[in-house]
Amino acid sequence: MPLPFDNSYARLPARFFAALPPTPVARPGAIAVNHALAAQLGLDADWLAGPEGTAMLAGNLVPEGAEPIAQAYAGHQFGGFVPQLGDGRAILLGELVPPAGTRADLVLKGAGRTPFSRGGDGRAWLGPVLREYVVSEAMAALGVPTTRALGCVLTGETVYRDGVHKPGAVLARVASSHIRVGTFEYFAARADEEALAKLCDHTISRHYPEDDTALDLLASVTAAQARLIAAWMSFGFIHGVMNTDNCALSGETIDYGPCAFMDAYHPKKVFSSIDARGRYGYANQPQIALWNLAQLGSCLLPLIGAGEQAVSEAQTVLDGFAPAYQEAWLARMGRKIGLAAATPEDRPLIEALLNRMASEGADFTRTFRGLSTGTAAQEFTDPQAFETWAPEWRARIAREHDPEAVMAAANPVRIPRNHRIEEMIAAAVAGDYAPFHRLHAALAAPFTPVESFADLEAAPRPEERVARTFC
Ligand code: AMP
Ligand code: MG
Ligand code: MG
Repeated sequence: MPLPFDNSYARLPARFFAALPPTPVARPGAIAVNHALAAQLGLDADWLAGPEGTAMLAGNLVPEGAEPIAQAYAGHQFGGFVPQLGDGRAILLGELVPPAGTRADLVLKGAGRTPFSRGGDGRAWLGPVLREYVVSEAMAALGVPTTRALGCVLTGETVYRDGVHKPGAVLARVASSHIRVGTFEYFAARADEEALAKLCDHTISRHYPEDDTALDLLASVTAAQARLIAAWMSFGFIHGVMNTDNCALSGETIDYGPCAFMDAYHPKKVFSSIDARGRYGYANQPQIALWNLAQLGSCLLPLIGAGEQAVSEAQTVLDGFAPAYQEAWLARMGRKIGLAAATPEDRPLIEALLNRMASEGADFTRTFRGLSTGTAAQEFTDPQAFETWAPEWRARIAREHDPEAVMAAANPVRIPRNHRIEEMIAAAVAGDYAPFHRLHAALAAPFTPVESFADLEAAPRPEERVARTFC
């Protein structure tokens, strides 16, 4: 089957990437193909699920028109700069340009070693592959900008992690691009202004064609990140590894590692096993996004202009993050309590609810959904904490046109809960993929209550709670 490739990144100068094919695996084994996404991309899902498609998703068959590369990038990891990271286990097969639709990178994650692998084995194991599949697709269904999962396969090989041999897998990821803040940092660290200018032009033409200058690009990315983080916050999502190499210029959520959706709300929640100091905890996410944007701004300075003038122009753009974020947060959180167009005067009402939720261990998703079903108070250890907040809220939404409809569209019934993900992974490792398929299906329509999915809508029992997530 011919795939509609047009590989613009591979036409950039050679120092932007290493050209190499995926490393073939022992025995490709089909797990899942995303039919809805395949259709959007103009791909034949039945072919993808068949032997040739499975071989392609495993990296054993490089399709015609693909020009496989590993992209070079750098990045700040937990605040410390690493001048060379790059795709150590991901291979960009090429860019799909569907007849009706937008350009999309097709990447195989777990496709073998590359010149950027450093000490790593270039592979992925089944657990994180299924987690990224389920969570990225759930994010898409929630309407949050994100990379997508086109499919995943078993490699027939094992991967050694934490002293255990685990089943190897490959995830086929689709993204509007994989250009990261770290991509700019890679060239900035090398004082390669020519490459920076080319990368800037490439990014503008792919993502923000209405922009002209590097300063415009910084402004567009700043706005996109403000909207993205507000969306995360509104669903209780914690990315877990907001390093600059995991911050996409497109404004899509990228790189699902030790991410988590909160059950009980608390602003200080941290799940990631590799985030000992809580740098990437829930409430820190907006300021970390801004920190990452500041790194981008500093990379772009030579393209913005000379000296202090450029610095002050970049700073002015970055100063736009806080108001843009606050506006997006208020709009989303307002809708969660039934306000079609919340104003700054509504902020204390929202904050008062969140404060009570935090001190009463209220489940984030169930409390907000419970506002329209009359069950919110049950989520609080002391229901009075809700009941004393509610009168002011009821008075406020009495002035709204259709608060029920607004809330139903803003508050999901189902999120990918950590304990269900763990359960799904354990079953898959034991050869049972039914929980994976069920979870994926349940999360495709997260705003619609479904009786048979009641178990997926429940909060974890104390013994089911997951305190730590791993990548
Ligand atoms: P991540 O934490 O997934 O954002 O990855 C950070 C860096 O480590 C990137 O350069 C990855 O390509 C690299 N990396 C992660 N896992 C592996 C692996 N198993 N083999 C080689 N490189 C890896
Ligand atoms: Mg990454
Ligand atoms: Mg990762």
